[in-house]
Amino acid sequence: MPRLNHVAIVVEDLEAALPFFRDLLGLPLARVADVPAEQVRVAFFPMEGGEIELVQPTDPESGVAKFLARRGPGLHHICVEVEDLDGTLKRLKEAGVQLIHESPLVGSDGTRYAFIHPRSAFGVLVELYERASGS
Ligand code: ZN
Repeated sequence: MPRLNHVAIVVEDLEAALPFFRDLLGLPLARVADVPAEQVRVAFFPMEGGEIELVQPTDPESGVAKFLARRGPGLHHICVEVEDLDGTLKRLKEAGVQLIHESPLVGSDGTRYAFIHPRSAFGVLVELYERASGS
C-alpha cells in the first residue's frame, strides 16, 4: 500500500509550537534538528502511517520563510513515498505536471526526494520520497 511519509507544518517558532503537539495532543517527539542545508529547524512526531514534521525557517531569505511570510503558519507540504522516483518523475513530466525538481535531490540520510509544484497538485506542495528497497 502507498505510504504517507510525513505532513509538514510551517511554524514561526518551533519551541512555541512543541507544547501543543507534544503535551496537549500527546504526540511523541522523536527529534528536533537544525538542517542548515535547507535553512530550517525541524521537529518530528512519528505516528502510525507517517510523521508530523514541524518546520521553522532559520533564514529570512529561504523559501520556507517566504512561504510563511506570504501565507502564515499552516500546512506546508505532504510527502508520499514512491518506489521508483526516477520513473515517477518521468511519468509526471510527460503528463505535463510542473515539477520543482526534475531530477531527485539526496538528503543527508541518503534519501532521494523531489517536489511537485502546488500549481500542478491542487494547491498543495507535494514531496516524493523514494522508499528504500526492501522497507
Ligand atoms: Zn518533507
